[in-house]
Amino acid sequence: MNAVANAPADDNRRVESAPAPCPICGKPRSPRYRPFCSKRCADVDLHRWLGGRYVIAAREEDDAPEDKGAPPEESERE
Ligand SMILES: [Zn+2]
Repeated sequence: MNAVANAPADDNRRVESAPAPCPICGKPRSPRYRPFCSKRCADVDLHRWLGGRYVIAAREEDDAPEDKGAPPEESERE
């Protein structure tokens, strides 16, 4: 008979423990690795981040030489 009273409470816990799934694989996230479900998924996201940053850095370096019109430091040399 107690099982009937426990049913609704258990349902509430399920909703609270899994507010949103892991953005990488869709599994329930872990509080230790949130918002991911595991260190592996956190690593996957981290590598995506690093990859994106490297691309941005390379693009910025490519733009630098083109902006060599009037560098403030060189005007002091003259
Ligand atoms: Zn995951």
